[in-house]
Amino acid sequence: MRTIYDLHTHTLESDGTLTPTELVKRAAGMGVQVLALTDHDVTNGITEAQVAADYSGLQLVPGVEVSVTWQGRTLHVIGLGIRHDDDVLKSGLAGLRKRRNARGREIGDRLERAGVEDAWSGAGRYSHGKILSRTHFARYLVETGYARDIGKAFKKYLLRGKAGYVSCEWVGLEECVGWIQGAGGQAVIAHPGRYPMGSGTMRRLLGEFRDAGGAAIEVVCGNNNRDEIERYARLASDFGLLSSCGSDFHGPEQHWRELGRLTRFPEGCTPVWQDWKT
Ligand code: AMP
Ligand code: MN
Ligand code: MN
Ligand code: MN
Repeated sequence: MRTIYDLHTHTLESDGTLTPTELVKRAAGMGVQVLALTDHDVTNGITEAQVAADYSGLQLVPGVEVSVTWQGRTLHVIGLGIRHDDDVLKSGLAGLRKRRNARGREIGDRLERAGVEDAWSGAGRYSHGKILSRTHFARYLVETGYARDIGKAFKKYLLRGKAGYVSCEWVGLEECVGWIQGAGGQAVIAHPGRYPMGSGTMRRLLGEFRDAGGAAIEVVCGNNNRDEIERYARLASDFGLLSSCGSDFHGPEQHWRELGRLTRFPEGCTPVWQDWKT
């Protein structure tokens, strides 16, 4: 039987809806044997998840999903197998969270000006005083009837150009890869299909990423299709990068991104875990 890996997941330490313990239990129930916890810009859930993993008998890979700014765009870079107590990584992530908080205040102000009352405190009820994400604003917009679902809340209010959008300068690509490598981890470009960029720009990104020491591309993620998978598998091989897979699970309500339900890699991919001790 093949081992089931899911190397991209969230808990309520960032914008997911399960606790780390609930996440690990659900993953074990879904047959996942190797699970990476990769919350946005924070590693607080890892200790609890590790306890639950020991209990459930699955292997936990400590991870993080870092917000990066590259050529004026936001990208997500995952760190897998990080030492989450590494000082440079820790202080880097703390800096990102500070920017996130300031951005959250401003998103709240802008939404207020657009007529959405109590947006900041409303979103804060969903983030429980932890990382404040646009997802929390989206949940509040749905709760208060400003949008019918999370996707529409983003489309109407939170994407670039909309009333509640606030741009943010995250960490640079090279610096981010440096943090991850310095903490003993492997850097992975998350969900490459979700960035609005042409193939020339994507190739430039992957070249820079590899030259900076990046390890892998997320060839298989939550809801991508066969064509996308083939395309990113080819790019991985062109750039000598490894292949990763992850659901980007945020909670049971998003049934299309369930834990461990991932398509196999196409022929010829070298998995990011090829040298891991399992
Ligand atoms: P933030 O890091 O606070 O800017 O929020 C980014 C998060 O919002 C992502 O990790 C996704 O979980 C979610 N997200 C981004 N774009 C969308 C979208 N179009 N629809 C639904 N969720 C989205
Ligand atoms: Mn998210
Ligand atoms: Mn992401
Ligand atoms: Mn994610």
